[in-house]
Amino acid sequence: MAGVGEARAKLLEKELGIITIGDLLRHYPFRYIDRTKIYRITEVNEQMGSSLVQIRARVTGIGYAGTGRKQRFTAFVSDTSGSAELTWFQGIKWIEKSVEVGREYIIFGRPSFYHGELRMVHPELDLVEKAASRKFNSGMQGIYPSTEKIASALGAKGFYKIICNAWQTAQEYIEEYMPQAVRQAYDLMPLREAVFNIHFPQSPEKLHAAERRLKFDEFLGVQLSIQSRRTERMTRHDGFLFPKVGELFNTFFNERLPFALTSAQKRVIKEIRQDTVSGFQMNRLLQGDVGSGKTMVALMSMLLAVDNGFQACMMAPTEILARQHYANISRQTEGLNLRVAILTGASKTAERRKALEGIASGEIDILIGTHALIEDNVKFANLGYVVIDEQHRFGVEQRARLWTKNQQPPHILVMTATPIPRTLAMTLYGDLEVSVIDELPPGRQPIRTYHYTDAARLKLWGFIRQQIALGRQVYVVYPLIKESETMDYKDLEDGFESIIRDFPLPDYRVSVCHGKMKPQDKEESMRQFKEHESDILVATSVIEVGVDVPNATVMVIESAERFGLSQLHQLRGRVGRGGEQSFCILMSGEKLSREARQRLQAMCQTNDGFQLAELDMKLRGAGDINGTQQSGMAFDLKIANPTLDSALLHSAREAAIRILDSDPRLERAENIPLRALRARHAGGQKFDFSMIS
Ligand code: ADP
Ligand code: MG
Repeated sequence: MAGVGEARAKLLEKELGIITIGDLLRHYPFRYIDRTKIYRITEVNEQMGSSLVQIRARVTGIGYAGTGRKQRFTAFVSDTSGSAELTWFQGIKWIEKSVEVGREYIIFGRPSFYHGELRMVHPELDLVEKAASRKFNSGMQGIYPSTEKIASALGAKGFYKIICNAWQTAQEYIEEYMPQAVRQAYDLMPLREAVFNIHFPQSPEKLHAAERRLKFDEFLGVQLSIQSRRTERMTRHDGFLFPKVGELFNTFFNERLPFALTSAQKRVIKEIRQDTVSGFQMNRLLQGDVGSGKTMVALMSMLLAVDNGFQACMMAPTEILARQHYANISRQTEGLNLRVAILTGASKTAERRKALEGIASGEIDILIGTHALIEDNVKFANLGYVVIDEQHRFGVEQRARLWTKNQQPPHILVMTATPIPRTLAMTLYGDLEVSVIDELPPGRQPIRTYHYTDAARLKLWGFIRQQIALGRQVYVVYPLIKESETMDYKDLEDGFESIIRDFPLPDYRVSVCHGKMKPQDKEESMRQFKEHESDILVATSVIEVGVDVPNATVMVIESAERFGLSQLHQLRGRVGRGGEQSFCILMSGEKLSREARQRLQAMCQTNDGFQLAELDMKLRGAGDINGTQQSGMAFDLKIANPTLDSALLHSAREAAIRILDSDPRLERAENIPLRALRARHAGGQKFDFSMIS
């Protein structure tokens, strides 16, 4: 295609996954700038931030500075209101040819200021006469998602030009696939018109209609995919049956239960019971805020499976968490007729052999572990029930592999404390039943959360001493972000050293735990903290999920601005697990981005994970695929945003159900074209937890 040679094609594929012209046309702008608006130079001010602006000015002079690689080319421009400087560091040979002193240009770029004077680095220039004849001159020009590499290879205007070419090449091949009836019912713009307007909006109204149409298509694809799968699952009667409430469950319930179950826990166990006698395979998502007691539900439902002659397994996202589950469950079921084993990546030969052999012979009833559970050499005798803890931590592929271990699919309980906002869970997880534990065990006091800067550190240290004097324990957590691991570990090490200095032995015992330590050292640190052989645990976010030390009452999060909202909430969930008042202290620098400030404020205002999750989605903004992935839903939405476009999502869901009701296999002539749409969004596959081929 014109404008895309081999090198560029490779770059597009590598950086953005763009292979076909169709992919290009589905690479939508993430915002538009109004190119009919031309500012006077003095109108452009610092408050406009980093948005792109357009001025119309005459070149009054040019200049060169520096030599060799440091060379710089400057054009001085002015309009009737003032003057500005345009600078180029690259492509000087080419740009100096296109800048003529005395002529007038439309100049488009990102403003910056130096001593109050407007500057633009690497702006786009168009002669005024030429700009007037721009091809798709609609006023609004799309700004495309890009990467640094692509931007430097294509230049600012590059993407736009490629899209223009793609449109010209492909427009006549864009065919409507939406059945006429659906288009009418939901008042959808025709496809070709929508594709044109999303890239080259002819008016704000048309742009809106185009967005609406393309969002609808994405939602419809996802919904067709989910609803088809659901229909299929419900037509298969091959769920294992757990009809018996047997000895294990009863003995545990009557003699071992360390506390009364909350009514929410009871309700969820009942829901699982109902599923496992229905004859259908269970696919249940259990949402419950941190500390709501999901593990007990997992354990009791695993006992049900074992009572009925099946094996059960429980997969946790980290070594620490798996070991903790194993220790707790072993302790709580000690003396019962139940064999529990553990298997993780760090399992030594003996432990590994015991687990593998026992699981294959059927001797072991419950296997607990990390993703080592899904390795090929793990063969269950008769796996009937799978629990996945903190599912958002697992990759899609890992989840998928677990249940290909059986001919007949086991029942699956997926647990998460990262709540998927209600609107989402209802619609996107159409293929999952959802249970919610909406109640904390009694006696918990809400955690108090405060945001401090370094200025308050002495006060904080004083407070920590007080808590330790009361016999409580404290977490101090440092961020760990992949790109700068070495630097981050330095943060942690420095922090650790200063804490040892400020909290000396023998009054204060400090442990440390981070991802770079050997598994047995990590485990030893955790053990020390758990058994109260240390008072302070300095850690990275490896302790984010699951870790349960009820005596810990203070969670200090250093550089809290570097954590995402759901991570902060998870970390906070490490305290407030016992009866004592607990505290979460968010430490940050003085300077914060607006978003970071909002996150920290939200943390101080509420303990409600659902509210935080809703806010998180909003803060992340439209089309943040990463954000959705974090909630465990990796699917292909380029333009639609389930939170912001929930009304449209409901419409698409309704449409999908209606279409499939009358034509479950999409066999009618008018529906056949929808198969491709469904297939494209069978990214839905990725968030189908049952993954039965
Ligand atoms: P999460 O849902 O975050 O996984 P856990 O299962 O780790 O929560 O439970 C948090 C703490 O609450 C644990 O110490 C657990 O023993 C305790 N717990 C769970 N259920 C109850 C209950 N019904 N009453 C009192 N404490 C409970
Ligand atoms: Mg848990």
